[in-house]
Amino acid sequence: MEADRWIERVGSQRSHLPEMAELAALEEELRELIKALREAQAAQNPVRTAYEDAKSQAERLGRRASDLEKTLSASTANARELTAIQNELEHLRELLGRCEDRELELLLELEPLDEVVNAVKERAQPAVARRTELQGVILQLQATLDEELASLREARHERAAALSPELLARYDAAFARVGTSGAAQVDAGRCDGCRIALSPLDHDRWKGQAAGTFMTCPECGRLLLP
Ligand SMILES: [Zn+2]
Repeated sequence: MEADRWIERVGSQRSHLPEMAELAALEEELRELIKALREAQAAQNPVRTAYEDAKSQAERLGRRASDLEKTLSASTANARELTAIQNELEHLRELLGRCEDRELELLLELEPLDEVVNAVKERAQPAVARRTELQGVILQLQATLDEELASLREARHERAAALSPELLARYDAAFARVGTSGAAQVDAGRCDGCRIALSPLDHDRWKGQAAGTFMTCPECGRLLLP
């Protein structure tokens, strides 16, 4: 009975480690953070793409303008051609100016979006580290409790082997039916397996039972130890 109660206790401890509850809460938090990160990135991505486009367009226009300036200063072309180049250059500079304005606007729009994404990542970092730590602690604790369970089962086996086959069969049948243990003690008139009080008649029967015989608890069916 004691061995089975200990096995139950250690087994329940193994599956209800406080670290497990912390890990579950942490994983919930991480799921929320991943959702927040995806939302922040969804807002950030189109602005970033537009910004990159404006930037490379401005670079392209800037290169064309400086090429034209070189052509203009080295040119031996006639006045008409020079005027044409000058006109194109003016047009280019205007385009470039608008493009740079757009680039700046997008950059200003992008900054707070980047901050949101980075803030979510920063919040997730310690949670991810703690998760790894907890996973390690849980594995270690469970390995220790598994060892303890193995030695408790060994002890249970030894004790069970010392019982008569008939008594062991009754014990095992009660155990299979109600769990935790197949026997109980009477504590202040109550079966300490199901915590239900024996009737005065049953209590007297229990007190009067011959050595080596075990009546069962009328409520839970566990063998009542003298
Ligand atoms: Zn009982």
